[in-house]
Amino acid sequence: MPHAPINPYESMQASLRVASELYGLDDALFKVFMAPTRSMIVSLPVLMDNGQWEVFTGYRVQHNLTRGPAKGGIRYDINVTLDEVKAMAAWMTWKTAVVDVPFGGGKGGIVCDPNRLSMGEKERLTRRYIAEIMDIIGPDRDVPAQDMGTDAQTMAWVLDTYNMHVRRTENAVVTGKPLSLGGSLGRNEATGRGVLITAREAMQRLGKPLAGATVAVQGFGNVGSQATRLLHEAGARIVAVSDSRGAIKNDRGLDIHALLKHVSEAKTVTGFKGAEAMDPAALLTHQVDILVPAATENQITEDNAPKIRAKIIVEGANGPTAPEADPILQENGILVVPDILANAGGVTVSYFEWVQNRQGFYWREREVNERLVDYMTHAFQATFATTDKYKTNPRIGAYILALDRVAQAMKYRGFYA
Ligand code: NAD
Repeated sequence: MPHAPINPYESMQASLRVASELYGLDDALFKVFMAPTRSMIVSLPVLMDNGQWEVFTGYRVQHNLTRGPAKGGIRYDINVTLDEVKAMAAWMTWKTAVVDVPFGGGKGGIVCDPNRLSMGEKERLTRRYIAEIMDIIGPDRDVPAQDMGTDAQTMAWVLDTYNMHVRRTENAVVTGKPLSLGGSLGRNEATGRGVLITAREAMQRLGKPLAGATVAVQGFGNVGSQATRLLHEAGARIVAVSDSRGAIKNDRGLDIHALLKHVSEAKTVTGFKGAEAMDPAALLTHQVDILVPAATENQITEDNAPKIRAKIIVEGANGPTAPEADPILQENGILVVPDILANAGGVTVSYFEWVQNRQGFYWREREVNERLVDYMTHAFQATFATTDKYKTNPRIGAYILALDRVAQAMKYRGFYA
């Protein structure tokens, strides 16, 4: 019998519950962490190109603001739900704490199919959404960025709409902007670079070099394609990749530069000449050293987890592993680099972008990348030290590291009642 769809917010709560018990978290704090601070639902009337009006639903959720302004992307996808946005906002609270940048957790989303919107429709939808959530965002309140279905152009419309309303330049209201509007060098590839850095650290933990390791990547968007390119440049052999249209493989190693060229024209990995088609579900269980899920939630479940043969899973996506799958992976000795660590490179360089905007002083790409390595390796080491200390798996280790940092900050601030 098929399982009921897994609710991502319940997945987040399940991991939080396990981590809180192991850590011995104060009951009051546990209750606070279980629910987001603020959830906003907005209706967005948009004039479509055919002259008709459509009304879209948008969300912005702020999970926790103790350590700083909320930080988190905006997702455009037909499957966006309030619970998904709540889950991702909470993951941002933990992620910003794991890499120790001074933000809380937020996330936004609009229920829409971005592939079916014209540029004009997407722009009008974005501007209306920002106008509706104006009161709760800002450089010191909540700083959006891109996520699935949104990009640097979308962030430019966010910036422009916000600045038109406040009638001044506030570049730091959003990150992931084009360079010409105060974006940071290195931001576009930052999440993929974080995947590279944590994959290398994880291989080192197993006493193996990254060069020569075989890799499969699910999802070939911003995160998946950049991670693929950087892992390839580091000497790993990418043998399988997929996107929402299908999967391809070549056990001798894909020619990544030719593949990137193919994708820039065809907009999909399918049909690439230097590979054969494969069943997308089989990509996850393909025999590789490193598996990078970089698409969406709940891809690794209790059904396929027993068949996974990778040595390491580096979670480029948010929530790709259902909670029931974790014990199976642990039992099988698979090292999971959890999402709140593995994909934190994006928010780390978003933090650098926000700092540069506020300083009005911009860093060279080398400085950005060096600082990213520094933040990510510290976060990796702190996560695994916590994992070892509590004799748990790295996901729960990362949660404990994060909730300890947020809890300490909350204890100093106290509850305002
Ligand atoms: P994107 O929209 O650029 O790309 C998503 C990719 O996944 C596309 O190639 C799409 O075809 C593919 N895809 C969707 N469903 C699929 C499926 N069932 N099987 C295989 N492929 C599928 O999005 P992105 O920004 O790369 O984000 C991907 C994931 O990484 C999301 O979970 C996102 O929340 C997370 N993430 C993104 C960033 C960032 O900086 N962009 C940062 C941290 C985490």
